[in-house]
Formats: sequence, structure tokens, C-alpha cells
Amino acid sequence: MTTTLREVLARDLAAGTPTFSFEFFAPKTESGTRNLWDAVRRIEPLSPTFVSVTYGAGGSSKDRTVEVTRQIAAQTTLRPVAHLTAVGHSVAELRHIIGQYADAGVRDVLVLRGDPPGDPDGPWIPHPQGFTYAHELVSLVRDISDFSIGVAAFPERHPRSPDWTDDIRHFVAKCRAGADYAITQMFFHVDDYLRLRDRLAAAGCATPIIPEIMPATDVRQIRRFARLSNAAFPEDLAHRLDAARDNPAEGHRIGVAHATDMAARLLTEGAPGLHYITLNRSTATYEIHQNLGLTRRRTPTPTPA
Ligand code: FAD
Repeated sequence: MTTTLREVLARDLAAGTPTFSFEFFAPKTESGTRNLWDAVRRIEPLSPTFVSVTYGAGGSSKDRTVEVTRQIAAQTTLRPVAHLTAVGHSVAELRHIIGQYADAGVRDVLVLRGDPPGDPDGPWIPHPQGFTYAHELVSLVRDISDFSIGVAAFPERHPRSPDWTDDIRHFVAKCRAGADYAITQMFFHVDDYLRLRDRLAAAGCATPIIPEIMPATDVRQIRRFARLSNAAFPEDLAHRLDAARDNPAEGHRIGVAHATDMAARLLTEGAPGLHYITLNRSTATYEIHQNLGLTRRRTPTPTPA
């Protein structure tokens, strides 16, 4: 693969074609591996712009992430984006992992600081020969490779940022260090995304911000994720999902409908694309995507009469 996601995004943005992508995680078990590959094979015919593979919290899945990303690059037609965090790694180790990705044919990474192992809200203790912030890892990847680089953005502000001014300043620094695009944390209010975009525009930052779409089909699971990611969960949606607690099919319908509405509004408002969290299950995201009717085929330019 000679192009990187940087060129693909630039082309699609210029053409006004929304990108769409799916996020997977590297499983720990045999049944988890079967679920992952069932989901990957179901998504593949949709020809998404890319798929991404997360890096386990606390750096726990390094080898599995590298291996799954390598397999996707080698065995499918998909473009894999490998997540990479600074947690627990020296700079030498990070260089080595970037080299492993390059050897695997990967040219695109999503660069993250990561959270402390164990308690994600605990104190951040950098590796003695490592990094403290994502922008340092962005600079390293930029210096030693020609990879495209994505970074994280937070529609409700990063939980460790004392205020918006600080948050935006550090986000812009990350982009200036070499990020080509950003993907957001999950969120459930479209206005939060739009306000973030306005703040970045006011700061002179034109980096494309791809919103992350999390189908909320199970109220218990989604409350746990929302708590971990600090995302405010709409009370009316929570009530409706609560009422469907014993009816998974109805919960699924409610979650897919809500995510479809959100995704449609984001695209109408000019979001450059959509990044779906799959949790290695394709059904909900596949349905949302079908509801939206997006394809990778370009819309032909109308012939003048
Ligand atoms: P940073 O950009 O370093 O920011 C962290 C905090 O430090 C912010 O408050 C920022 O404002 C502040 N800051 C930045 N620079 C400075 C500075 N110079 N001085 C002072 N303060 C500064 N985690 C995983 O473990 N694995 C994954 O695969 C993963 N994938 C993710 C995918 C997406 C799309 C998103 C949104 C998050 C993902 N995360 C993942 C979570 C992420 O690692 C955490 O949210 C982490 O807390 C922040 O990472 P960051 O890259 O934004 O950090």
C-alpha cells in the first residue's frame, strides 16, 4: 500500500465524500478471535475508508494489536490504522513498535498518550525513558516514518484538562506536531462536537475531526463506557433503554435509531466522516451504516445540459 490515510482523507475531503471507518480491538480468546474475524469479514464488502485496532489499556495488548493489525493488512483488502499509546514504553520500545508496524505493511497510526494502567483516573507516571504527552509521540512518529498520524479529540474536553483554553491549546500543539486528522472520544450530544469544531476553528486549527459513533443498545454497558470516557449520556435515551432492559431486540432498535439520527445530523453539519465503535460485533454499526446509505463509490459529476 503506497498511499497513506493522509492522501485518502485529503482526496475525500476535497470531493466532499464522507469517510467511514470501524474500530476493533485485539481479542484475548479463541471465541473473541472468531467474533473479530466474523465482524471484519462482514464489514469488508462495505469498503470502509479504514479500520482501526485499539491498543489495550495500559499497553496490555501490544503483541496482539501488532499481530491483528498485521493480519488485517496481509489478509484483507482493508486499510488498518494501528492505535499506539505511550503507556509503559521507553522511546526505544516505541521506535521498535513503529518499526514492527512498518514491517507489517501498516502506514497509518492513531497516536495516543494512553491512561495509567489499573485506575485510568490515577496519577500519570511516565516511563523514565518515555513520554508524558501524545504530542511527543506524534513528533517521534513524524521524525522516523512517513506514516499518516491521527490523534484523539474530546468533544466534552479531556477529563484532565482544567479548562477549555488549556485543552484547545494542547490539542492544537498536537496537530502542529504533525497530526493529519483526529478521531473524537464517544459522545451523545451532537452540539458538543459542533462546539469543539468551532473552538478549534477559532484557534486557527483546520485538522479534520472525525466523530466517533457508539451505538447505545444496552444501558448497563453504555453507562459503564460513558463513565470511563466521561461522556454525558442523554437521560431520555437512558430511560428508553432502561424500559427495554428485558427486551434486547427493542434496546437494539432504540440504540441503532439514536445513533443513525446522530450520524445523519453530523454529516449534515459537515463532519468529514464517521468512525464506528464495533466492540468486534458488526450488527449495530452495519445497520446504522446501511440506514445512512453511504458508499465509497464517488458521486459522478452531473453532465451539464
Ligand atoms: P494528550 O494529548 O497527551 O492529552 C492528555 C492530557 O494532557 C489533556 O488534558 C491535555 O490537554 C494535556 N496536555 C497535553 N499536552 C500537554 C502539555 N504539553 N502540558 C500540559 N498538559 C498537556 N487509550 C488506549 O489505551 N488505547 C487505545 O487504543 C485508545 N484509543 C483511543 C481512541 C480514541 C479515538 C480516543 C478519543 C481515545 C483513545 N484512547 C485509547 C484513550 C486515550 O489514550 C486517553 O483518553 C488519554 O487520557 C488521552 O490521550 P491523548 O492522546 O488525548 O493525550
